[in-house]
Amino acid sequence: MLRISKPWIEHKGDEFYLMADILDEYRDKTFRIWYSVNEEYGQFLSDDRLDGFLLNSLIYAMRTGQDIELGAPVSPKLLHNIQNTIQPLFKTVMPDGRIITINVPPHTEPLEEYKGVAVGCGCSLGVDSMASLLSHLKDGIAIGYKVSHLALFNSCQFGYVDLEQTEKSFRQGIEKIRPFSEYTKLPILAIDTNLNELYIGADVRLTMRFILSTLSCPMAVQKLLGKYIYASSYSVIDFELSPLDYSHFESAFVPLLSTESLEVILSNPTMTRVDKTKYISKSPLTPKFLDVCCADQKANGFWKDRRWLDSKDKINCGWCEKCLRTLFTLELLGKLDEYHSLFQIDNYLKNRESFILNVVLNREKDIFCKEIFDLMNEVGFVLPVAVKRAVRRQRIRSFISIKEKFKGINFSLVRHRVVSFLKVRTRKKSK
Ligand SMILES: [Zn+2]
Repeated sequence: MLRISKPWIEHKGDEFYLMADILDEYRDKTFRIWYSVNEEYGQFLSDDRLDGFLLNSLIYAMRTGQDIELGAPVSPKLLHNIQNTIQPLFKTVMPDGRIITINVPPHTEPLEEYKGVAVGCGCSLGVDSMASLLSHLKDGIAIGYKVSHLALFNSCQFGYVDLEQTEKSFRQGIEKIRPFSEYTKLPILAIDTNLNELYIGADVRLTMRFILSTLSCPMAVQKLLGKYIYASSYSVIDFELSPLDYSHFESAFVPLLSTESLEVILSNPTMTRVDKTKYISKSPLTPKFLDVCCADQKANGFWKDRRWLDSKDKINCGWCEKCLRTLFTLELLGKLDEYHSLFQIDNYLKNRESFILNVVLNREKDIFCKEIFDLMNEVGFVLPVAVKRAVRRQRIRSFISIKEKFKGINFSLVRHRVVSFLKVRTRKKSK
């Protein structure tokens, strides 16, 4: 059983904390999980419900087969969607997980429906985020859906292993988006958390819980937010029930993570990454603010080594996978020259040909490579000579490795038998 206590609010220093204790009987450990906001937003913390705490714990509970006992109510719409759709959906990609029971305390009073009118939108300023922001800041957007707050959450986007370093990167992230906030005159809604603590040492990949941990943050401030715009990661064209990365089927469940007070919206679900890059490259804001670099997150998480960042002197390093992907797409769109102040273009140029080779070789296995390869064809991109040679060499190498696999087989004999078989069949048919 995973027992989540009634939440409460504490005021410490300049921050307000929404907290709850989670007793994990599987590991025999209690976690004090919290969300914190600065004083300006303290009044909006929702301490009468456990929506966010439940959402962040769900995958862990399913994975460990533990039912959840809640010390306070959750929004009925969210509970209904989790029980009826979200859990069965997750179970299809998590065969060793269990559909769990969620026990809510009996209460007679219906939960208060908040009247928050603010519209939050994730503001990492990467391609997905920028496309979301621009499509919800443009003229003609429906009344009540224009972005009013730039959201930044320390739920897992800034790392999830070294939590001290993750916290520092989150604080730096706030400073990085401040110029955009000043330019657009939109306030920053920053929510710090320790949600990762529950998952340290747990058998759950980040890509399985990323969306739930992220969307648990706006649920902490439902008195403020009436809507939250979540940037899609993949187009519905590439929909896949992937057990490794739940973003591949995000369109099936993200809108269901809404409550009576908070509507969660999946933005640009039909756009591919190339479509989004094309879309944002038309805005004058993009060459001023685009921030796609994942070198920091990789250093804090996957690499567990920050020495890689020593040579980074611009917002975007120019050689991580996201920088290379974005810069090459911008080059194909004829926009590369506009990005010298934001990207280390020298790093890009050093790695450009190996990146193009990677696109050509992996276009059938990797969605992003396929999209870029299609764009290369669309604009009539001519492969550099060195890449052509490398592709040829790679094909020869693959051919040799196939031959190695079938070493010992007498191919002349096989050929002779196949030819004889075909001759006999042709003769029979002609009779
Ligand atoms: Zn980078």
